[in-house]
Amino acid sequence: HKHWHRCIHTHNNIRTIHTHGFNDKAAQSLLNKLIRSNLVNTTNQVEVLQRDPNSPLYSVKSFEELRLKPQLLQGVYAMGFNRPSKIQENALPMMLAEPPQNLIAQSQSGTGKTAAFVLAMLSHVDPNNKFPQALCVSPTYELALQTGKVIEQMGKHYSEVKLVYAIRGNKLQRGTQLQEQVVIGTPGTMLDWCLKFKFIDPKKIKVFVLDEADVMIATQGHQDQSIRIQRMLPKQCQMLLFSATFEETVWNFAQRIVPDPNIIKLKREEETLDTIKQYYVLCNSKEEKFMALCNIYGAITIAQAMIFCHTRKTAGWLAGELSREGHQVALLSGEMQVEQRAAVIDRFRDGKEKVLVTTNVCARGIDVEQVSVVINFDLPVDRDGNPDNETYLHRIGRTGRFGKRGLAINMVDSRFSMNVLNKIQDHFNKKIEKLDTDDLDEIE
Ligand code: ADP
Repeated sequence: HKHWHRCIHTHNNIRTIHTHGFNDKAAQSLLNKLIRSNLVNTTNQVEVLQRDPNSPLYSVKSFEELRLKPQLLQGVYAMGFNRPSKIQENALPMMLAEPPQNLIAQSQSGTGKTAAFVLAMLSHVDPNNKFPQALCVSPTYELALQTGKVIEQMGKHYSEVKLVYAIRGNKLQRGTQLQEQVVIGTPGTMLDWCLKFKFIDPKKIKVFVLDEADVMIATQGHQDQSIRIQRMLPKQCQMLLFSATFEETVWNFAQRIVPDPNIIKLKREEETLDTIKQYYVLCNSKEEKFMALCNIYGAITIAQAMIFCHTRKTAGWLAGELSREGHQVALLSGEMQVEQRAAVIDRFRDGKEKVLVTTNVCARGIDVEQVSVVINFDLPVDRDGNPDNETYLHRIGRTGRFGKRGLAINMVDSRFSMNVLNKIQDHFNKKIEKLDTDDLDEIE
């Protein structure tokens, strides 16, 4: 991936390669979409902030209550949806209200945002009018394709409504006037189609959706392009903005895109270590850690296990050594294409792979809830070598009542890593017990 920024840090004589930059978030988001097959469970309640606090707050418990066009209701059922998700219960009535209302919605990936705005777009366009009426901008080519697929699926029984992709590579003849009612694309191409080529008349747009605002602003230029598109739209156009996270920068951007917004937020389920049994194993070197891992291998592979290494190099080495020992392992590594990574995670989810070796950079943000054993082959530390408590919690923590009991084993190979472990233990105020790998009765 040519856009990935790479930089090399040297600390404590450990050479680590970090992959970051704008495509990291987009890749993660795409991965999550590719591997997610259903809604994320959450017990948290949505928070709704209404533009007009005096108007009644509607929420729906069924899709029928929304009085969707029959063709769309058919589409909803064809996708296997029985009832609206938590966020959809409130967002859909707002988005489908007359007059249409503006909305900023934030909830983690997998909570039903895309399905919600796709329904809104398809509901608001008039198939008799042969020109674009709904625009959706997405941060990357791949994400736009993915959302386009949802539009196609949802609109399967509503074939009078057509979709076109405003993405690089889709070259139209000069002077073309688009006939399609819905346009999905990336900000650059979308802006060109509105402004430079005039394929789209922005004054006729009724719904404008900006998806993945947090990923969007991570890319240079996307923010400005999006704002320029937004400014060309008529005042009464419905503006909708979605984001998985909501930092200050996202919020500032959101307010520039969506005037007079209603706001819906759904907090992420908090992770805890309460249902996790934590151990550490004391070793003297990487090789000893490997041997210790082999000793406990039988015990950990009763369930599914994920093994985290600090670098791609260690992950590659460990996966190689394990398979040389005759163990079947899968490797999830940063140099793999997003689709390859999705395929590996998919196999792991399906239980076709029992053990997954990976780095943190690679697996961050990916929820693999059913993993019951997590091995920190290297403890999580930040760039300065300090304990990374947040990553530790995210690797081994489980969310509330959906969390099954789990087991975490930390490999310690130096005084330095023992110190890190102690700090993590103090931070969470939960004992991490010593495990003797020659005597495994303890871990049942
Ligand atoms: P988000 O945009 O928040 O990441 P999606 O709209 O992509 O979430 O939904 C996540 C997954 O849940 C998708 O596989 C989608 O098909 C499914 N889904 C969405 N809404 C519903 C629903 N009401 N009932 C069942 N499944 C749903």
